[in-house]
Amino acid sequence: VIDAPDPTGRARRRAVSYAIDETHDETLRAWVASANTEDTEFPIQNLPFGVFRRREASGAAALVQRMETSRFVGAAQRFEDARVGVAIGDQIVDIGVAAALGVFDDAPDADLVRDAVVACEAWTLNPLMSLGRGPARALRVALSRALRIDGPDSARARDLADRILVPMSGVDLLMPVDVGDYTDFYASVHHATLVGSLFRPDNPLLPNYKWIPIGYHGRASSLVVSGTPIVRPTGQRKGPDEAMPSVGPSRALDYELELGVYVAGENAIGVPIPIGDAEAHLFGVSIVNDWSARDVQSWEYQPLGPFLGKNFATSVSPWVITMDALTPFRVPRTVRPSDDPAPLPYLDDARDRAAGGLEITLEVALRTPAMRASAYEPAVITRGSSAELYWTFAQMLAHHAMGGCFMRPGDLLASGTISGAAPDARGCLLELTKRGAEPLSLPNGESRKFLEDGDEVVMTAWAERPGFRRIGLGRCEGKIVPLSV
Ligand code: CA
Repeated sequence: VIDAPDPTGRARRRAVSYAIDETHDETLRAWVASANTEDTEFPIQNLPFGVFRRREASGAAALVQRMETSRFVGAAQRFEDARVGVAIGDQIVDIGVAAALGVFDDAPDADLVRDAVVACEAWTLNPLMSLGRGPARALRVALSRALRIDGPDSARARDLADRILVPMSGVDLLMPVDVGDYTDFYASVHHATLVGSLFRPDNPLLPNYKWIPIGYHGRASSLVVSGTPIVRPTGQRKGPDEAMPSVGPSRALDYELELGVYVAGENAIGVPIPIGDAEAHLFGVSIVNDWSARDVQSWEYQPLGPFLGKNFATSVSPWVITMDALTPFRVPRTVRPSDDPAPLPYLDDARDRAAGGLEITLEVALRTPAMRASAYEPAVITRGSSAELYWTFAQMLAHHAMGGCFMRPGDLLASGTISGAAPDARGCLLELTKRGAEPLSLPNGESRKFLEDGDEVVMTAWAERPGFRRIGLGRCEGKIVPLSV
């Protein structure tokens, strides 16, 4: 290793680490009591970034409503007193307030922490993401030290608890990122094979699948944060036995369980992101629900792929779990069966082979209006793992940019439906019910082929491994509502 001079700090800003560091120590405990409970999703080892608004701070309510209809996240949130925060137990650290009160003054890498704090004076995480991973990692170390129960640097933070902490119960969690472009991949070979067999029984997996991380350009304008109602889309649909298409509300509305990654830093137009550099461009992950109208999709998708069957809404969970928080849960890239082709050189890298995967467990739960009326909890219907994906996020990003596509900070790349080999690891109803042929039985005796109005879909996810603290990704939920005109 050459210790080259780095006067601008550029290399440190872009630096990636796969190393376990002091922030991952399982024994760390926070002075925020709720962060130390067994079942918390947000222990001191997690520290995810998000954007929130205090509920009482709605001085510009009328304006907000008008702006929200425009869906320009950054513009709308500017008028909402939106703040960047970090989750700890059932509280949120207001980064701007904590920095102004000097909580991070003694942190190591003071210049990187200062950059991160300045970037957090925003209404979205895009500025922080634009800096690459280094400043966010430095802020993570500073936060970890400030929140430790016995930390040498935590006395000031603890004394200021009332001012720097905001209870989650008193806030709305907003869209964390103003996503410029959203791309949806198809990285689960189990999903691709099963869905392929439903749409094309004679030809389930197309010949390009094992060579190319297949994806399509999605629609950023209809990304919504967890909790936003999902209006059943109207579309043109034609069943295989119908002579003509008809227009109306989708009769085959589905969810798709996915993991999404936000882009850090940027390339320049015309400049690829080599696979060895791709990890430095991955900021962190959220749960993604890529709502899908299967009847619309099956009629429209050939030859150019998904369009209105996918563009009406995609939900994301509000907390962004940084890749640095996920370091303990890195796993080797999926080992391919021996008769599969090896990835082409531009998709192959020793580090990605060794640790390109992420071991995150994801679950889908469903609750119908009848279940809600009888006080049933949402019933878990699927559990999958991102460790089974055929392609890594680094491979997806390297492929995406190989032709010179400009990737901007905050762009969202979603994995595609996460399905596993097991029969209960099927990440959408299309697979679970075999396109409606085998309805799903629910605990109250009801059944579902596809989603009905009033149904709630709740996605959760977590990472755990012996020797480390379990961390959660939060929730991504949405309720289906009929179109009301
Ligand atoms: Ca999808």
